[in-house]
Amino acid sequence: MAASDEFTLYDLRVEVVAGDAPMVCNHRPGDYFELSGENLSFPPGQTFPLYPLAALLPLLPAKQRDTHPNDWMTTDMEVACPDPLCGARFRISRTGRSTFRHGEVTRVPLETE
Ligand SMILES: [Zn+2]
Repeated sequence: MAASDEFTLYDLRVEVVAGDAPMVCNHRPGDYFELSGENLSFPPGQTFPLYPLAALLPLLPAKQRDTHPNDWMTTDMEVACPDPLCGARFRISRTGRSTFRHGEVTRVPLETE
């Protein structure tokens, strides 16, 4: 029997939450986007500013994966807007898990024994 090539990643939701200062960028509390595998999705008609998105993107692949319980990547849920004058925070939540197959996401073969 061939070994399964399945793996799982966390599904993520990134939501705008109010910080201590007023928001400068074009985001409002409750705005959000979701990530499943490599696919971002936004609610119909909702926009998301480019610069905060660019700052968030490097964190998301790590947050999709299992991390050590002591790792800050596991415990820290909120990151600040990269605009130092903007009060927005972005809460990254793991909302579930999706299963993917190695053979469907890459052409690099798995090493088999
Ligand atoms: Zn902002």
